Amino acid sequence: MEKVIIGSHVSFNKDEGLLGCTNEALKYGANTFMFYTGAPQNTVRGKINETKTEEAKNLMKEHNIDIDNVIIHAPYIINLANNLDKEKYNFTIKFLNQELERAKSLCINKIVLHPGSHVNLGEEKGLKNIINALNIILKEKEGPIICLETMAGKGTELGATFEQLKTIIDGVSNKDRIGVCLDTCHLNDAGYDITNFDKLLDEFDKIIGINKIKCIHINDSKNVKGAHKDRHENIGLGTIGFDNLIKIIYNEKLKEVPKILETPFISIAGGHDRTYPPYKFEIEMIKRKKYNPNLLEDTRNYYRKF
Ligand code: FE
Ligand code: FE
Ligand code: ZN
Repeated sequence: MEKVIIGSHVSFNKDEGLLGCTNEALKYGANTFMFYTGAPQNTVRGKINETKTEEAKNLMKEHNIDIDNVIIHAPYIINLANNLDKEKYNFTIKFLNQELERAKSLCINKIVLHPGSHVNLGEEKGLKNIINALNIILKEKEGPIICLETMAGKGTELGATFEQLKTIIDGVSNKDRIGVCLDTCHLNDAGYDITNFDKLLDEFDKIIGINKIKCIHINDSKNVKGAHKDRHENIGLGTIGFDNLIKIIYNEKLKEVPKILETPFISIAGGHDRTYPPYKFEIEMIKRKKYNPNLLEDTRNYYRKF
């Protein structure tokens, strides 16, 4: 089988720490993964369990997971673009700094960050605030790389165009510690034609440089190109489609870039209100490069057993 670095979002809990993440990823047949180091909607963070981190690193080695491909996602409540509330803005900078320290202690080298929403400040001021914050956060020469995620352009979200991302990167002094995370659903919703991915990659290369791509979120989209919605769909069931996503995943130029699924969980009808991750079956069909029309049913049947 052709080499592909593929994984999904997994959950991180205080007790099992990085070891829990690794075990979950292995269950899905993944060789990488992404996680939040705490609840993404708040800034409460527990202590990192060092023993579990060491155990996780050993388990990764055993299963050929390169920890350099593992990703942390910064909490999505972080907004570096708006500074009207100075106290909040400063707290956010401090908090992201702490998140970088947590990444370091977990030996994770890449943190995905939503650039932020300017709210009512306008694009120019919003971008300036992001740059200013990043220059404070990335003062030290060495440390984890912040990967700015391409956004769908919902509301006043920044980072929905390559030009905006370039402006941010240009403003950051410590260029070695800044990169980009492409998100296929977001690119589509932002208005980019990702059905012609080679052409889009050329465009990205001209504006930012292909070597800046450090991570790719692989999601189908519930909405048409340019909808500015940001609603992820399971692989093959959305407007992007299986074949287009496969072309992106197996693109020769992005071979070494980790690919992460963030597709919706699937509900089991009939009294269960819990939802279950489709990742095991999505990863399976990605590895086979063959669409599985029974993706939802297979997921339901699998989790019914538990
Ligand atoms: Fe994200
Ligand atoms: Fe994403
Ligand atoms: Zn999204």
